[in-house]
Formats: sequence, C-alpha cells, structure tokens
Amino acid sequence: MTAYDQLMAFQRQTEALSQVAGRLGWDQETMMPRGAADQRAEESGAIQAILHARRTNPRIGDWLAKAEAPDAVGTAQLRHIQRDYTRLLRVPGDLAEALARLTSKSQGIWAEARQSDDFASFAPVLEEVLNLKRQEGAALAKGGDIYDALLEDYEPETTAAEIEAIFDAMRPGLVALRGVALSQPERPAICGQFPGEGQIGLSTALAQVFGYDLNRGRLDRAVHPFSSGSGDDVRITTRTSDTDPFNCIYSTIHETGHACYEQNINPAYKLTPLGSGVSMGVHESQSRIYENQLGRSRAFCGWLYGRMHDAFGKMSVDEEDFYATVNRMHRGFIRTEADEVQYNLHIMLRFDLERALIAGDLQVADLEAAWNDRFKADFGFAVDRPSNGVLQDVHWSVGLFGYFPTYALGNVYAGCLFEALQTAVRGLEDQLAQGQLTQATDWLQQHVQQHGGLYAPRDAIERASGKAPTEVPLMSYLSEKFGALYS
Ligand SMILES: [Zn+2]
Repeated sequence: MTAYDQLMAFQRQTEALSQVAGRLGWDQETMMPRGAADQRAEESGAIQAILHARRTNPRIGDWLAKAEAPDAVGTAQLRHIQRDYTRLLRVPGDLAEALARLTSKSQGIWAEARQSDDFASFAPVLEEVLNLKRQEGAALAKGGDIYDALLEDYEPETTAAEIEAIFDAMRPGLVALRGVALSQPERPAICGQFPGEGQIGLSTALAQVFGYDLNRGRLDRAVHPFSSGSGDDVRITTRTSDTDPFNCIYSTIHETGHACYEQNINPAYKLTPLGSGVSMGVHESQSRIYENQLGRSRAFCGWLYGRMHDAFGKMSVDEEDFYATVNRMHRGFIRTEADEVQYNLHIMLRFDLERALIAGDLQVADLEAAWNDRFKADFGFAVDRPSNGVLQDVHWSVGLFGYFPTYALGNVYAGCLFEALQTAVRGLEDQLAQGQLTQATDWLQQHVQQHGGLYAPRDAIERASGKAPTEVPLMSYLSEKFGALYS
C-alpha cells in the first residue's frame, strides 16, 4: 500500500468512529433515558479521547510527508487532512482538555442564568471561556488574527474583514426594510389548535417533497431541531407547538436542506474528509434556500395552504393572507424566531460583539450593556430582560466564537444560488405552485451538494452561481419580496 492509501484507510476508520460519536449525540437528544446522562457523558468522553488520539497520531504526519495524491480529488483530500492535523497540533493538549472540561460546565451555568434572568451569574464563567478561547485562537493564529483563526473552524479560507465588508453593505438596507415594515400595523400570527401528530405527518411529507431520502434518514422529535450524520445515515429532528404549526414545518424544511446536502454528496467521498459539507456557511445556504427562497415563496405557500387545510381543517387565515402570515415581520427579541430580514441584523450584532470580546476591546462586564445599546439602535426598541437579550443563545457559553457570522453568510450564499437557480430552472414558480421541488433540488445537488468538501467554500458558491459571491442578490431578493409585502 502507498502512503496515500494507508493514510486514507486510517482516515476512513477515524471518520467512521466520528459518525458513531455523532450518533451517540443524536441518541442523547432524542431517545436516551433520562437516567443515562452520567454514563453517556463517560461513553462520549471515551470515544472523544480515542478520536483525539487518532487525529493527532504522528503517523499522519509521516504519511502526509510521503503521500502523493493520485488525482485532483486526492489533492483535495490531502489538503483537508493537512489542515486539520496542523490545527490540532498547534493547540496544546492541556489547553484542549481545559476547554472541553470548562465548556461542559459553563453550558449548565448559562442555562441557569438564562432561567433566572441574571447575566451577572454567568459573567465569571464566560470570562474564563473567553480567556481560553483567546489562548486557543492565539495558538492557532501563530501571530495572525485570533478571530480569523477561530472562524477558520467553521468557515475555512474566509476572513472576518471579508465578512465585515459584506455585512456593512447590508446593514443600512436591512434597517430601512425593517423600519418600513414595522411602521405598519402588525399582522396577526396564525391562531388555532394544531395537533402535534398532524404536524409530524405533514412535516414528514414535506421533507420527502424536498428530496429527503427516508431510507437513509429519519425524522424524530427533539427540544432543538438539528440534523446529524453524513452519507447513508443522515437524521433530522423537529419540534411541535400546538399553537404555532410554522415552527415545526419550517424547522423541518430547514433541517431537510442540511440533510439533503449530506445525503447528496458523491458516494465515492463517503467516510472521507470530502464526505461532508464544506463549511457552516455553505451548509446554511442549503438549509436557507430550502426554507426561505423556496419554502416561503408565494407559489409554494399557495400549495402549502392546501396541504395544511387537509391536515388541520379551516384555519384563522384564508389562502389570500396565508403568504403574508408566513412571512410576517414583528417586533421580536429572539434570533431564532426572526424573519428573513431581521435575522441578519441579529447576526451582525453578535458578530461585532464577539469580535470585540476576542480582540479585548469589549470586557465581559460591559457585554450586557453593549448588547442592549446595539439592539436599541438596530431594532428600535429596548431589551426587556437578559433572556431576551444577551443570554438567549447557547453559543458563547460553549466557546463557539466565530460561528454566528456563518448563519448570515449562509443567507448571502443562498441569495447567490437562488439567482442562478431562477435562471437555470424554467417555470420554477409553476413547479413550486404544484409542490414540485425536484428540478430545483436536482440543480442544487448537481451544482453544490455533490461536491462535498471538494472546493473551498467561496469557490463552491462561485462555481455554482457563475459569479463571485456578494450580498447584492440577497438584498435585491429581500427588497423585492418584503417591499411588496409591506408596500
Ligand atoms: Zn441551519
């Protein structure tokens, strides 16, 4: 066996074990008996230790030094392996361990602080997490920008300055759109009783309409919707609320976008470094285009109204108002409940604050006030309590600095892809009005999803859309859609 073949065989086993670890995580959120929590923590810890030892095994370095890629795909495989190996070796083992220990504790402290609406009780442990993340970032950056080094984990080959330029170009337009919409009387949300079983039945059907293969996947309930796994075992979860059926429906379509990306990667890449989505931003572009540009379009909403009528009977909105209700904008504090316009403003706020925290320009003691000031400026009203403000997201408590911007970057990428998709698929609106998604999702599979990790994130979007990605297509889409809804 050549060095390349040996390296790839070793990687394949590591990736298989990593899928096993992921499935333990899925089980924990869906099926695990309550009393098993402590034992599960030990089981997960044991498998993580094995994974860490394999990923930092010096034999990888030996193989990398000798390996010759047989083709362009092999070159991409080696690039991924080299990058991951180099990054892992840069972080001292005791620092990685301290971070893992601290973040498993700090998440609980955050949850309690959120429950009791008390930022001060979370601040000390956040300070510790931030301190360790700065050390990790400095080790990874080797003299370069610390935030960029952390961002690399989620969005490789992309800098904070590039993201900042895109966000700066979007912010005034978004603030203006929200201002116009919210100066008008607020549209009511849908009301009524929507039995959970009906929502799950409809969501399962919708996932299949969007191309999800239930023979290699499954849909279960969890507290927070997520998708996990890759290749031939990609699972999604959703949640139901008896009064708000859209939460379940659109969470499911969103997770279906993530899951289809994983299911549709070239089978030759299964259990290799190329065998999963290339970045969080590109991943989010798939979930968002399924959920928003396709799932919340006027044409598709017309079809969905009929399906909801079949499932739940008469509703508080008629067919005419259904599209406006699905896309209604309202004054809200919570990122995960925001519409397509305000969502991006939520992300920009977090991006700017976390960069300032990492750079040392903002102290944890001043974070709550900084959050509230910025929220007032962008959203036009004041945060009423920390659980509606600085304590609403889990991310910082578990050390996910650099993750937030990938959500809005995903929206930007979805905008680029949708522009190209509309040109490529003739009669898209007629198809959406019939609940026919096949041509649209086939296009995404062929131009984005099948490639997995083959191309760098921005290259992947550029190859699919035919242009270097910018915020322009997303902003025109949003202005046109919400301009018409709130004219
Ligand atoms: Zn997502």
